[in-house]
Amino acid sequence: MASRSWTEIDLDAYALNLSELRAFLHSNQALMQIVKADAYGHGAWEISRRAEQEGVAWLGVANAEEGAVLRYRGIELPILVLSPSLIDEIGLLRDYNLVPTLSDLDFARAWSSACGDNPGVAHVNLDTGMGRSGVAPENAHDFLNILHELPGLVVDGVFSHYSASECDDDFSRQQLARFERLVRSLPQRPRWVHIANSPAAVTQPDHLTNLVRLGLLSYGIYPDDSLRQRINLRPVMTFKTTVSMVRRVSRGASIGYNRTYTATRDHSYAILPVGYADGYDFLLSGKGVVLLHDRLCPVLGKVSMDMTTIGLDDDMSVKPGDEATVLGAGHEELRAEKLAARYGGNPYELLCQLGRRARRYYRQDGRVVASTPLARREFHAPDFSDDGLDRVIEASISQRLQSKEIAALLYDKLLKYFFADHDRDIHYRRDFRHTLTFSDDPSQPDHWLTRTKLEFHKRLQAGRFVVACATNPAMLERYFTRRDCEYRWLLDDKLTLDSRWFEVTGVQVNDLELDIESRLVNGCIEIGCSHPSMESLVGEEVSFRIDTRTYYPRRSHQLSVFITEPTQGVDVSFHCPPESISQVQVVPVFAGRTRFPHIKSTPGCHTVSTDPDEWVLPNSGIVFTY
Ligand SMILES: *Cc1c(COP(=O)(O)O)cnc(C)c1O
Repeated sequence: MASRSWTEIDLDAYALNLSELRAFLHSNQALMQIVKADAYGHGAWEISRRAEQEGVAWLGVANAEEGAVLRYRGIELPILVLSPSLIDEIGLLRDYNLVPTLSDLDFARAWSSACGDNPGVAHVNLDTGMGRSGVAPENAHDFLNILHELPGLVVDGVFSHYSASECDDDFSRQQLARFERLVRSLPQRPRWVHIANSPAAVTQPDHLTNLVRLGLLSYGIYPDDSLRQRINLRPVMTFKTTVSMVRRVSRGASIGYNRTYTATRDHSYAILPVGYADGYDFLLSGKGVVLLHDRLCPVLGKVSMDMTTIGLDDDMSVKPGDEATVLGAGHEELRAEKLAARYGGNPYELLCQLGRRARRYYRQDGRVVASTPLARREFHAPDFSDDGLDRVIEASISQRLQSKEIAALLYDKLLKYFFADHDRDIHYRRDFRHTLTFSDDPSQPDHWLTRTKLEFHKRLQAGRFVVACATNPAMLERYFTRRDCEYRWLLDDKLTLDSRWFEVTGVQVNDLELDIESRLVNGCIEIGCSHPSMESLVGEEVSFRIDTRTYYPRRSHQLSVFITEPTQGVDVSFHCPPESISQVQVVPVFAGRTRFPHIKSTPGCHTVSTDPDEWVLPNSGIVFTY
C-alpha cells in the first residue's frame, strides 16, 4: 500500500457489526444500511455491495445524486432518500428508481405528477420530536389524506427519527409512543414502518416497526460511551500515514504557525503528510495523538493544511517512511470517539472528513481485495467526458482483475486500441481463409514463386479499398493503421517494387470482379480495387477474395501470417514442395480464447485453424519455420 496516507476499510468488521446489531432485532425487522455521505467516509458503493451480500433490505442516502451514483454502479437494492428532495431532483429520482421522503405537499404533488403512469413510491417522514424536517404530528392525518388522493402516489413507508436515542431513553420512549399512536391510527398501515437509527436498535427495541436504519454503529463507532457495555463493535475504518521527515528542535525554539508550541528541552519530532485538508481537524492542534512504533506521540503546535508535527521520545529511532496510525487499527486512544472528544468534535463528522484525500483499501478475509482511486468521488454519471470514461474503464478493469498490470495491458493494448477514436466502429472479419503456396520457378533460383489467396467476410466500408506492398517494413507500417487497406505484403528487399515481383492477380467482392489500378506512392505499391456497383454494397457484409502472385526469398527460413483485426474463424495454410521443404514447424501465437488452434501437417501442406465460431484477437499470427 504505497501511498503517503491511506484508509483501510475492514469489510469483515463491518459484517461482524451487522450481525452483532441483528441480535438486538426481532425476526421481522429488516435492515436499511445508511450509506449517505459516501457511507460516512467508508465508500458508499463498497459498503452497499457488502450490505447486499449480508442480506440488508434497503439502502439510505442523503440525496438523489448519491442514489444515482449507486444505481449507476449497479446497485439494485431499494434506495430511500432520507433528506427532503428538491423539485429539481425529481428527474434523477425517477430515472434512477429512488424513493423520496415526503414531508411537504408541493413536493409530493410534483412527485405524483412526474411519475405519470408509473407508481410514485415514497416514504413519509413524521416528526415525533426530532423537530427537523418531518410532518408535525397534528398535521399527519391531513397530510396522509391528501397524499391518498394524489394520482399514482404510493406511500410505501412511514417513518420517524429519534433525536437522542444514544443517551436519552425517556425522550426516546416518548417519541416511540407518539409514533406508535400515529401509526396505529392510520386507516391503512404502509408496508414499511421505521423509526430506529443504529443506537436505537440497541436502546429502544420495539414491536411496532419492521425496518431499522443502521448508520454509525454499523461502522463500529459508539455515539455514546454507555453503548459500549451493551454491544461489542469493531471500528471499520483505519487511517494511516507515513513519516515524511524527522527533525530536531532545540530548547526554546518553536514549531509551526503562530509559535503555539515551544520546546522545553532538545528533542526530535516527525512530520506527517496529513493536515486539515485531509480531514485531520484543525482543532486537534496541540491535542491529537498519533500511534508510531507502538507509542502514542503528541501533536505539537498547530495542524497545518497538509502537515502535522508530532513529538518523539528520545529512545525512538524513527525514519522517513515509517508507518503511523492516525485513526483506528484497534487502538483505544485512536477510536474516532476518543479522537473527536479531544477537541469537542463528533465522531460522525470525523469519519466523514478524515481521509477524504486518501486512497482507500478494502480488506476482506485478511486480504486487500480492492482499492479506490483518488478521483473516485468525481465518479458521477452526467459528466463523463471521454477522458473521464477512459479512467473509469481502466479503474473498473483493474478492480475486476485485481491487477493493475493486467488491467493496463488489456486496456491499452486492446480496448483503447479499438476505442481510441470513440466514434470508430469495430471492424471484424469472419471465415478468414488464407492460403500461401510456394513453388519452383526455374528462372528465379533464389526465390520461391509464391501465390497467395485470401478470403474473408466483412462489412464493406467504402466503394474502394487498397492492397499495399513495400520492401521496407517502415513504409508498410502506415497501411496497418489505414482502415481502407485490406491486404499488405512485405517484399524481399533484394527485389524491386514492380509488377514482375508483386502482382494482384484478381480481386472479388461477392461476385464482382474488381478493377485494379496500381501506382507507386512513397516507396509502396498501392493497388486500388473498386467497381462501379460496389457503392451499393457499402454497409453490407460481403465476401472478399484477393489473389496475388509474388516471390519469397529462399534464404529466409520462415514465413509469418498476421491477423490484424478481430476475426471469427481462422484457417491458414502453407503449401510447399515437400521434396525441398520437408520439415515445417508451425507456431501459432494466438490471442483470444483459442490460444491453441488445430494444427494439421501433411507432406506439402500445413494448416492452422480454429472452430468457425471462435474469435481470434488482433496481433495474433502464425509463423511457419522450415
Ligand atoms: C443518518 C440517518 C440515520 C443513521 O443514523 P445513525 O445514528 O448513524 O445510526 C438514520 N436515519 C436517518 C433519517 C438518518 O438521516
